Amino acid sequence: MDIKSNLAEVENKIVNACKKAGRDRNEVRLIAVSKTKPVEILQKAYDENIRYFGENKVQELSDKIPKLPSDIKWHFIGHLQRNKVKYIIGKVDLIHSVDSYRLAKQIDDDSKKNNLISNILIQVNVSNESTKFGTSNEEVFDLIKAVSELENIRVKGLMTIAPATDNPEECRVYFKKLKELSTEIEKLNLKNVEMKELSMGMTGDYEIAIEEGATLVRVGTGIFGERVYS
Ligand SMILES: *Cc1c(COP(=O)(O)O)cnc(C)c1O
Repeated sequence: MDIKSNLAEVENKIVNACKKAGRDRNEVRLIAVSKTKPVEILQKAYDENIRYFGENKVQELSDKIPKLPSDIKWHFIGHLQRNKVKYIIGKVDLIHSVDSYRLAKQIDDDSKKNNLISNILIQVNVSNESTKFGTSNEEVFDLIKAVSELENIRVKGLMTIAPATDNPEECRVYFKKLKELSTEIEKLNLKNVEMKELSMGMTGDYEIAIEEGATLVRVGTGIFGERVYS
């Protein structure tokens, strides 16, 4: 598998989706989702100028960080347990997957202990699938209001995972909904809350997500190939 040509293809698709939507390429950041892949493979992507990597397991992330260049911005995109927050505080650029006040409070507490501010996104289960994490389209407002009172957290936007489908057009409605929620939340003018980022779009649907306003696309398979779980 050729990381270099995969990356070129992804870049090309990002550029075309931006053009189609009348957006500037610089408005969209590519997060290379490297879960299950060995550090040698991540290094290849790094050598092609990738600086944002997404991981979904605390242990795997902790193992990889010391083995790769220190200017990598690590994004935590998986379900996060409260007792593991302490292992990633100060090591990640952005946590995409905050979906409860209890988790946010833990991040706030551990950030205070380390004398730093943590950037987070609120994960919304826009499609309301029972198998997915995330707060609901209704509860997101109260959750963000509560989180905005936490001093060592900055909410930078929203994240969602669209349903798995063979037809990415079906995801458009969910991306539109996330954008709509973000516009409504912005109007509340909450302290420590900025609706700057929309983390949406994966290998199957990132072009549609970009058309609908994504600022962070999380692409794994399209860069690194299929994942093999042993
Ligand atoms: C694995 C994962 C991705 C990447 O999925 P691909 O389909 O391989 O691009 C994106 N977002 C999250 C939250 C993931 O867990």
